[in-house]
Amino acid sequence: MSLRSIRQKLVTGETTPTILLEQLAGVIVAKDGQTGAYLSYDLESALAEAATADLSKPLGGIPIALKDNINVLGQPCTCGSKFLAENYQSPYDATVVKKLRAAGAIPFGRMNQDEFAMGSSTQNSALQTTRNPHDPERIPGGSSGGSAAAVADCTAFAALGSDTGGSIRQPASHCGVVGLKPTYGRVSRYGLVAFASSLDQIGPLTHTVEDAAMILQAIAGFDPADSTALDAPVPDYLATLNDGVKGMKLGVPKEYFGHGIDPGVRKNVEATIQKLASLGAEIIDISLPHTEHAVATYYVIAPAEASSNLSRFDGIRYGRRAANPTDILDLYKKSREQGFGPEVKRRIILGTYVLSSGYYDAYYGRAQKVRTLIRRDFETAFQQVDAILSPVAPTPAERIGSFGNDPLQEYLSDIFTLSANLAGIPGISIPCGVTDFDGGINLPVGLQILGPHLGEAKLLQIARAAEA
Ligand code: GLN
Repeated sequence: MSLRSIRQKLVTGETTPTILLEQLAGVIVAKDGQTGAYLSYDLESALAEAATADLSKPLGGIPIALKDNINVLGQPCTCGSKFLAENYQSPYDATVVKKLRAAGAIPFGRMNQDEFAMGSSTQNSALQTTRNPHDPERIPGGSSGGSAAAVADCTAFAALGSDTGGSIRQPASHCGVVGLKPTYGRVSRYGLVAFASSLDQIGPLTHTVEDAAMILQAIAGFDPADSTALDAPVPDYLATLNDGVKGMKLGVPKEYFGHGIDPGVRKNVEATIQKLASLGAEIIDISLPHTEHAVATYYVIAPAEASSNLSRFDGIRYGRRAANPTDILDLYKKSREQGFGPEVKRRIILGTYVLSSGYYDAYYGRAQKVRTLIRRDFETAFQQVDAILSPVAPTPAERIGSFGNDPLQEYLSDIFTLSANLAGIPGISIPCGVTDFDGGINLPVGLQILGPHLGEAKLLQIARAAEA
């Protein structure tokens, strides 16, 4: 059910928030044993909130699931890590959670993810495997894999995820749902456990484009608790949703359609672009010349910021503390060695290296310069076009285990999503078809639409036209 139809049923009294939650819990019990999207949920406290839900509010009485790196008062927040899995409870609500509550929603369910959001498969979760509802042998994508899989599996009506380099859009694409990464600063990051602070952004994963608009409406806006939150008015995202694409200029970057794209992905994305043309959009060939440097740039900047952000996990204040240390340094070392998984350690080591004296200019400083070039590519493009169309990922969902011990293969799968984070621009992934026949299973393919800073209303409008 879309959020609109749930709201309809709640407002007309056809169902109640309590019945809705109890039914949802039943579906989770029946289905999530196979999918593994949920790390935990607290039905009792959600039912208490349901009893007093205000149905006059835009998301009144509707349960919304949360990636397990978003703090909800009194709940676990594991970040998919052993470090926080045993004895951490959030002491406060993230701003997005406060805003969801203010819109009447009930935060319900903690969704699996790659550890500290590092990954594109959810296979880096230290806690459990999440499977793609379209084929249990495949990954759901990541890092917000639990959020995407639950929406696709109909064990959540909608979810929040976080996107540092594609972690909302790519799992949405792999699971056949809608995923929106807002402009950097559009949504407060306060209460999101930081991975790479200059790239992180929270956004919705939903069944429909309208649902994404409804959730963005609730969570967007200024927040004095996040110094990077934008103090810009929040438009009415639903008002322009159905205005169509007639007369719009949509750019197709040649760098996003080169070698290595799965034929099923290419076919569906190109067919959708043709559909948008037939609806009156003008399709324009463009170039984003620094695209090929995005992966290298991101995988210097993101680990550098992560190595700094994750230094707070030392066994003193948060989560796991190693037993029997010989001294305080030993306590730090043992706690970090035992608490972090291999991908997180790899990022910390890489990030510390690129920030170290003697290497800072060669790696981190240079990556920041290339980041500026990537941002300028978009600025130039948006002088010419309203939005940019591309695939979300070069392939549909890979088989579980297929990245093996080769992290570079997993990094390369982010090629089409990283640039939006480096440039700070918004992007949306919407289902645009399925691959023809892959071992008898049709796998979802996503279309990515990128827009200029604060261009969410237009993105949603284009996405809605494509969806229709
Ligand atoms: N896959 C990218 C990474 O591993 C992006 C992750 C994300 O957006 N959180 O860093």
